[in-house]
Amino acid sequence: MKLAVFEGHRVGVIEGDHLFDVTDAVEGAGPAWPPVYMNRLIANWETAGPAIAEKRRTARGIALSSVKLLPPNPCPVHVIAAPANYRKHIGEIGARSVSKGRTAEQQGFFMKATASLVGAGGAIELPKGSTRRFDHESELAVIIGRRARNVPRSEAMSYVFGYSCLIDVTMRIEPGVAEEERVTRKSFETFTPLGPWIVTADEIPDPHALRNRLWVNGEPRQDANTRDMIVNIPALIELISSVMTLNPGDVIASGTPEGVGPIAPGDRIRISIESVGEMTLPVVEAAGFSPRRF
Ligand code: MN
Repeated sequence: MKLAVFEGHRVGVIEGDHLFDVTDAVEGAGPAWPPVYMNRLIANWETAGPAIAEKRRTARGIALSSVKLLPPNPCPVHVIAAPANYRKHIGEIGARSVSKGRTAEQQGFFMKATASLVGAGGAIELPKGSTRRFDHESELAVIIGRRARNVPRSEAMSYVFGYSCLIDVTMRIEPGVAEEERVTRKSFETFTPLGPWIVTADEIPDPHALRNRLWVNGEPRQDANTRDMIVNIPALIELISSVMTLNPGDVIASGTPEGVGPIAPGDRIRISIESVGEMTLPVVEAAGFSPRRF
Protein backbone atom coordinates (compact mmCIF):
# COMPACT_ATOMS: atom_id res chain seq x y z
CA MET A 1 0.00 0.00 0.00
CA LYS A 2 1.13 3.54 -0.74
CA LEU A 3 0.14 6.06 1.96
CA ALA A 4 0.28 9.79 1.37
CA VAL A 5 -0.58 12.92 3.32
CA PHE A 6 -2.06 15.95 1.57
CA GLU A 7 -3.34 19.47 2.28
CA GLY A 8 -5.17 19.84 5.56
CA HIS A 9 -3.32 16.83 6.97
CA ARG A 10 -5.61 14.42 5.18
CA VAL A 11 -4.48 10.87 4.39
CA GLY A 12 -4.77 9.09 1.07
CA VAL A 13 -4.06 5.71 -0.47
CA ILE A 14 -2.28 6.06 -3.80
CA GLU A 15 -3.05 3.77 -6.72
CA GLY A 16 -1.57 4.69 -10.07
CA ASP A 17 -2.16 8.40 -10.59
CA HIS A 18 -5.13 8.52 -8.23
CA LEU A 19 -5.47 9.33 -4.55
CA PHE A 20 -8.24 7.77 -2.47
CA ASP A 21 -9.11 9.86 0.58
CA VAL A 22 -9.21 7.61 3.65
CA THR A 23 -8.91 10.40 6.25
CA ASP A 24 -12.08 9.29 8.05
CA ALA A 25 -10.35 6.01 8.94
CA VAL A 26 -7.32 7.76 10.46
CA GLU A 27 -7.67 8.74 14.11
CA GLY A 28 -6.42 12.27 14.77
CA ALA A 29 -5.85 13.25 11.13
CA GLY A 30 -6.57 16.89 10.38
CA PRO A 31 -4.99 20.25 11.11
CA ALA A 32 -4.67 19.90 14.92
CA TRP A 33 -1.13 20.42 16.20
CA PRO A 34 1.03 18.44 16.60
CA PRO A 35 0.33 16.38 13.47
CA VAL A 36 1.33 13.02 14.94
CA TYR A 37 -1.49 10.90 13.52
CA MET A 38 0.80 8.96 11.15
CA ASN A 39 2.91 7.77 14.09
CA ARG A 40 -0.24 6.43 15.75
CA LEU A 41 -1.52 4.96 12.49
CA ILE A 42 1.75 3.09 11.96
CA ALA A 43 1.89 1.98 15.60
CA ASN A 44 -1.66 0.60 15.33
CA TRP A 45 -1.25 -0.77 11.81
CA GLU A 46 -2.63 -4.22 12.71
CA THR A 47 -6.08 -2.69 13.15
CA ALA A 48 -5.60 0.57 11.24
CA GLY A 49 -4.41 -1.14 8.05
CA PRO A 50 -7.61 -3.15 7.54
CA ALA A 51 -9.73 -0.08 8.44
CA ILE A 52 -7.95 1.94 5.75
CA ALA A 53 -8.32 -0.87 3.20
CA GLU A 54 -12.05 -0.97 4.00
CA LYS A 55 -12.39 2.81 3.64
CA ARG A 56 -10.47 2.68 0.34
CA ARG A 57 -13.16 0.40 -1.14
CA THR A 58 -15.81 3.13 -0.98
CA ALA A 59 -13.57 6.18 -1.35
CA ARG A 60 -13.70 8.21 -4.54
CA GLY A 61 -10.43 8.55 -6.41
CA ILE A 62 -9.18 12.02 -7.27
CA ALA A 63 -6.31 12.91 -9.58
CA LEU A 64 -3.03 12.82 -7.71
CA SER A 65 -1.93 15.85 -9.72
CA SER A 66 -4.74 17.91 -8.17
CA VAL A 67 -3.48 17.65 -4.59
CA LYS A 68 -0.48 19.16 -2.80
CA LEU A 69 1.42 16.39 -1.03
CA LEU A 70 2.84 16.97 2.45
CA PRO A 71 5.51 14.72 3.98
CA PRO A 72 3.95 11.23 4.31
CA ASN A 73 4.80 11.46 7.99
CA PRO A 74 4.70 15.17 8.89
CA CYS A 75 5.85 14.79 12.50
CA PRO A 76 7.96 11.73 13.23
CA VAL A 77 9.46 11.62 16.71
CA HIS A 78 12.91 11.32 15.14
CA VAL A 79 14.58 11.91 11.79
CA ILE A 80 17.87 10.02 11.91
CA ALA A 81 20.50 9.97 9.19
CA ALA A 82 23.51 7.91 8.22
CA PRO A 83 26.63 9.78 7.15
CA ALA A 84 29.12 8.52 4.55
CA ASN A 85 27.30 5.27 3.84
CA TYR A 86 28.29 4.56 0.22
CA ARG A 87 31.94 3.91 -0.52
CA LYS A 88 32.23 5.97 -3.69
CA HIS A 89 30.68 9.02 -1.98
CA ILE A 90 33.37 9.07 0.72
CA GLY A 91 36.02 11.58 -0.19
CA GLU A 92 34.15 13.18 -3.10
CA ILE A 93 33.39 16.36 -1.17
CA GLY A 94 36.97 16.56 0.07
CA ALA A 95 37.75 19.41 2.43
CA ARG A 96 34.09 20.43 2.56
CA SER A 97 33.44 17.41 4.78
CA VAL A 98 33.73 17.13 8.55
CA SER A 99 33.96 13.34 8.40
CA LYS A 100 37.57 13.02 7.22
CA GLY A 101 36.81 9.90 5.22
CA ARG A 102 35.32 7.88 8.05
CA THR A 103 32.29 5.72 7.23
CA ALA A 104 28.95 5.44 8.99
CA GLU A 105 30.39 2.34 10.67
CA GLN A 106 32.86 4.50 12.62
CA GLN A 107 30.90 7.77 12.84
CA GLY A 108 27.55 6.43 13.94
CA PHE A 109 24.45 8.43 13.04
CA PHE A 110 23.26 12.03 13.29
CA MET A 111 19.88 13.76 13.54
CA LYS A 112 18.00 16.12 11.25
CA ALA A 113 15.30 18.37 12.69
CA THR A 114 11.76 17.09 12.15
CA ALA A 115 11.00 20.72 11.22
CA SER A 116 13.16 20.33 8.11
CA LEU A 117 10.68 17.93 6.47
CA VAL A 118 8.78 19.04 3.38
CA GLY A 119 6.52 17.04 1.05
CA ALA A 120 6.56 16.38 -2.69
CA GLY A 121 4.24 19.36 -3.17
CA GLY A 122 6.67 21.77 -1.54
CA ALA A 123 9.91 23.50 -2.46
CA ILE A 124 13.47 23.48 -1.18
CA GLU A 125 14.12 26.98 0.24
CA LEU A 126 17.70 28.18 0.45
CA PRO A 127 18.55 31.04 2.85
CA LYS A 128 18.12 34.40 1.13
CA GLY A 129 21.32 36.03 0.00
CA SER A 130 23.58 33.11 0.91
CA THR A 131 26.86 32.51 -0.93
CA ARG A 132 27.36 29.11 0.70
CA ARG A 133 27.30 25.83 -1.20
CA PHE A 134 24.15 23.71 -0.81
CA ASP A 135 24.15 20.08 -2.00
CA HIS A 136 21.57 17.44 -2.83
CA GLU A 137 21.88 13.94 -1.37
CA SER A 138 19.59 11.23 -2.76
CA GLU A 139 18.61 8.72 -0.10
CA LEU A 140 16.29 5.81 0.60
CA ALA A 141 14.23 6.59 3.71
CA VAL A 142 13.31 3.75 6.03
CA ILE A 143 10.13 4.22 8.09
CA ILE A 144 10.08 2.39 11.42
CA GLY A 145 6.99 0.29 12.25
CA ARG A 146 7.27 -0.47 15.96
CA ARG A 147 9.25 0.58 19.00
CA ALA A 148 12.79 -0.68 18.67
CA ARG A 149 15.36 -0.75 21.46
CA ASN A 150 18.50 -2.93 21.39
CA VAL A 151 17.36 -4.80 18.31
CA PRO A 152 20.00 -7.11 16.81
CA ARG A 153 20.44 -6.91 13.06
CA SER A 154 19.10 -10.45 12.65
CA GLU A 155 15.66 -9.24 13.82
CA ALA A 156 15.77 -5.66 12.56
CA MET A 157 13.86 -5.96 9.31
CA SER A 158 10.68 -6.92 11.19
CA TYR A 159 10.75 -3.37 12.64
CA VAL A 160 10.48 -1.71 9.22
CA PHE A 161 7.08 -0.32 8.23
CA GLY A 162 7.97 0.98 4.80
CA TYR A 163 10.09 3.18 2.57
CA SER A 164 10.10 6.61 0.99
CA CYS A 165 12.36 8.90 -1.06
CA LEU A 166 14.39 11.46 0.87
CA ILE A 167 16.64 14.31 -0.21
CA ASP A 168 19.15 15.24 2.50
CA VAL A 169 19.86 18.87 1.58
CA THR A 170 23.10 20.04 3.14
CA MET A 171 24.94 23.33 3.57
CA ARG A 172 28.63 22.53 3.21
CA ILE A 173 31.27 23.88 5.56
CA GLU A 174 33.76 26.51 4.43
CA PRO A 175 36.96 25.10 5.94
CA GLY A 176 38.48 27.53 8.42
CA VAL A 177 35.71 30.09 7.82
CA ALA A 178 32.39 28.50 8.71
CA GLU A 179 32.25 25.02 10.16
CA GLU A 180 28.80 24.72 11.76
CA GLU A 181 27.62 21.48 13.32
CA ARG A 182 26.14 19.01 10.84
CA VAL A 183 22.70 19.24 12.50
CA THR A 184 22.62 23.01 11.88
CA ARG A 185 23.71 22.66 8.26
CA LYS A 186 21.12 19.97 7.48
CA SER A 187 18.14 21.26 9.47
CA PHE A 188 17.09 24.42 7.63
CA GLU A 189 13.34 24.31 7.06
CA THR A 190 12.57 22.32 3.85
CA PHE A 191 16.01 20.67 3.82
CA THR A 192 14.48 17.21 4.13
CA PRO A 193 12.08 16.53 1.24
CA LEU A 194 10.30 13.22 2.04
CA GLY A 195 7.83 11.46 -0.22
CA PRO A 196 5.92 11.33 -2.35
CA TRP A 197 4.41 8.60 -0.14
CA ILE A 198 5.32 5.71 2.14
CA VAL A 199 5.35 2.32 0.43
CA THR A 200 4.68 -0.45 2.93
CA ALA A 201 7.47 -2.98 3.33
CA ASP A 202 5.45 -5.87 1.89
CA GLU A 203 5.77 -4.22 -1.54
CA ILE A 204 9.59 -4.04 -1.36
CA PRO A 205 10.94 -7.58 -1.09
CA ASP A 206 14.59 -6.43 -1.13
CA PRO A 207 15.35 -2.82 -0.12
CA HIS A 208 19.02 -3.51 -0.81
CA ALA A 209 18.47 -3.87 -4.54
CA LEU A 210 16.89 -0.56 -5.52
CA ARG A 211 18.19 1.90 -8.08
CA ASN A 212 18.54 5.32 -6.44
CA ARG A 213 18.68 8.24 -8.86
CA LEU A 214 18.59 12.03 -8.76
CA TRP A 215 18.55 14.65 -11.51
CA VAL A 216 19.05 18.41 -11.46
CA ASN A 217 17.15 20.17 -14.26
CA GLY A 218 16.85 16.83 -16.06
CA GLU A 219 20.59 16.19 -15.93
CA PRO A 220 21.53 12.93 -14.15
CA ARG A 221 23.61 13.58 -11.03
CA GLN A 222 23.28 10.45 -8.91
CA ASP A 223 22.70 6.89 -10.12
CA ALA A 224 23.53 4.11 -7.71
CA ASN A 225 22.00 1.07 -6.06
CA THR A 226 21.08 0.53 -2.43
CA ARG A 227 23.12 -2.71 -2.52
CA ASP A 228 26.22 -0.49 -2.22
CA MET A 229 25.31 0.76 1.27
CA ILE A 230 28.14 0.17 3.75
CA VAL A 231 26.00 -0.05 6.88
CA ASN A 232 22.85 -1.72 5.58
CA ILE A 233 19.33 -1.24 6.92
CA PRO A 234 19.38 -3.95 9.64
CA ALA A 235 22.81 -2.77 10.78
CA LEU A 236 21.54 0.83 10.94
CA ILE A 237 18.58 -0.23 13.08
CA GLU A 238 20.91 -2.25 15.32
CA LEU A 239 23.24 0.76 15.66
CA ILE A 240 20.54 3.37 16.35
CA SER A 241 18.46 1.18 18.66
CA SER A 242 21.60 0.43 20.68
CA VAL A 243 21.62 4.14 21.59
CA MET A 244 17.97 5.17 21.72
CA THR A 245 14.42 3.93 21.24
CA LEU A 246 13.16 4.11 17.69
CA ASN A 247 9.47 4.92 17.50
CA PRO A 248 6.76 3.98 15.00
CA GLY A 249 6.91 6.52 12.18
CA ASP A 250 10.56 7.43 12.76
CA VAL A 251 12.48 8.17 9.58
CA ILE A 252 16.00 6.90 8.87
CA ALA A 253 17.81 8.52 5.95
CA SER A 254 20.11 5.69 4.87
CA GLY A 255 22.86 7.79 3.32
CA THR A 256 23.78 9.10 -0.09
CA PRO A 257 25.76 7.54 -2.90
CA GLU A 258 28.29 9.39 -5.02
CA GLY A 259 27.34 12.24 -7.32
CA VAL A 260 26.48 14.83 -4.65
CA GLY A 261 26.55 18.31 -6.13
CA PRO A 262 25.40 21.89 -5.66
CA ILE A 263 21.88 23.22 -6.13
CA ALA A 264 20.73 26.80 -6.68
CA PRO A 265 17.47 28.76 -6.82
CA GLY A 266 15.67 28.02 -10.09
CA ASP A 267 16.79 24.38 -10.18
CA ARG A 268 14.36 21.48 -10.23
CA ILE A 269 15.45 18.40 -8.29
CA ARG A 270 14.01 15.02 -9.21
CA ILE A 271 14.58 11.95 -7.04
CA SER A 272 13.53 8.44 -8.06
CA ILE A 273 13.93 5.25 -6.06
CA GLU A 274 12.99 2.06 -7.82
CA SER A 275 9.69 0.51 -6.68
CA VAL A 276 9.26 3.32 -4.12
CA GLY A 277 8.41 6.42 -6.14
CA GLU A 278 9.68 9.67 -7.50
CA MET A 279 9.12 13.37 -6.93
CA THR A 280 10.37 16.68 -8.26
CA LEU A 281 10.84 19.79 -6.12
CA PRO A 282 11.85 23.29 -7.18
CA VAL A 283 14.68 25.10 -5.42
CA VAL A 284 13.81 28.67 -4.41
CA GLU A 285 15.40 31.42 -2.40
CA ALA A 286 13.64 32.17 0.91
CA ALA A 287 11.35 35.20 0.66
CA GLY A 288 13.01 37.15 3.45
CA PHE A 289 16.39 37.43 5.13
CA SER A 290 16.85 35.51 8.36
CA PRO A 291 18.10 37.62 11.29
CA ARG A 292 21.20 35.45 11.40
CA ARG A 293 22.66 35.22 7.89
CA PHE A 294 24.30 32.11 6.45
MN1 MN B 1 22.99 12.37 3.80
